[in-house]
Amino acid sequence: METKRTEIQDIGEFGIIDRIAAQVQVYQPSTIFGIGDDAAGIAVPPGQIVLVSTDLLAEGIHFDLAYTPLQHLGYKSIVVNLSDIAAMNGIPAQVTVSLAISNRFSLEAIDLLYDGIRSACEAYHVDLVGGDTTSSRSGLVISVTAIGYQQENLIARRSGAKSGDLICVTGDLGAAFMGLQILTREKKVFEVDPEMQPEIKEEHSYLIGRQLKPEARTDMVHELAENGIVPSAMIDISDGLASELLHIAKQSRVSMQIFEEKLPIENLTKLAASDFNISPVTAAMNGGEDYELLFTVPQNHYEAISKMQDVSIIGVVKPKESGNLIHLKSGQQVGIQAQGWKHF
Ligand code: ADP
Ligand code: MG
Repeated sequence: METKRTEIQDIGEFGIIDRIAAQVQVYQPSTIFGIGDDAAGIAVPPGQIVLVSTDLLAEGIHFDLAYTPLQHLGYKSIVVNLSDIAAMNGIPAQVTVSLAISNRFSLEAIDLLYDGIRSACEAYHVDLVGGDTTSSRSGLVISVTAIGYQQENLIARRSGAKSGDLICVTGDLGAAFMGLQILTREKKVFEVDPEMQPEIKEEHSYLIGRQLKPEARTDMVHELAENGIVPSAMIDISDGLASELLHIAKQSRVSMQIFEEKLPIENLTKLAASDFNISPVTAAMNGGEDYELLFTVPQNHYEAISKMQDVSIIGVVKPKESGNLIHLKSGQQVGIQAQGWKHF
């Protein structure tokens, strides 16, 4: 199939911006005006404070266009920022998107990227209110800033965990990492034989979906509120459970102790891990990009938390001297170590 290719030079920066602006939808009453002025105008809901978070995604470092469809990249670039707002127990409302684009990209490619950005904005009811557009000599760079709101007394920081609190996570862990292993393996096949299309097995689609199209757990922010629960500390799992546990431990001056048997790991993740000779616990602890929420709550919320569908209690907060430990099924205890994503 012949696909149309329009060079971005032919339409220019302003042409691109006009195209983006023409398709923007506004969902939030706090958005007073968006794209088109030198700055966007936003009304802070009364009694709330503004949460701001930025992420930068660079081609070849954070994503690989060999196996990342541009729509998914657009979607994920928004979602990872919304996840940061959710991790503060906040509700995201606006985003800005800044792009550095090389002329390797056509206008049609930019359209695909924005299809993904728009569908994330629609799914989460956040408004694209601005950004910046420039050319790049090398790869594609995407920077997203998310803006959200919450009452100050409901905000969950990393520093509030107390000894005795329960440690909880949403969803399941390690799947995004196994998805990445599968995509990387398929890419190697692709490089050897460019005629061969990467083959995505049905049983791998969940894992690949977790890698390419993660979701932000803003639903959990609402569910916690409905249950009258304010987490004492919260963080989203972008670098792997181990690294996030240590962040809370350090900033709250406590230690975190968890139980291997309590880790929520899907069977599909376990199966793929065994294929790749990776321990599923390693995938969960050090894999990253799950974008689930890790949080602590006082023990009096035990019953309410136990009733929440998609939340697992995985451990308990201890005094700082006790040490950050994972209690293995074998009865052994191992110190928690962060590997996280090291891009450098
Ligand atoms: P300035 O010269 O003041 O930076 P621009 O011409 O870059 O203004 O941008 C004009 C308007 O378009 C601004 O409202 C800006 O926020 C918006 N904008 C520019 N690039 C993007 C983009 N990639 N996505 C969304 N909005 C954009
Ligand atoms: Mg500009």
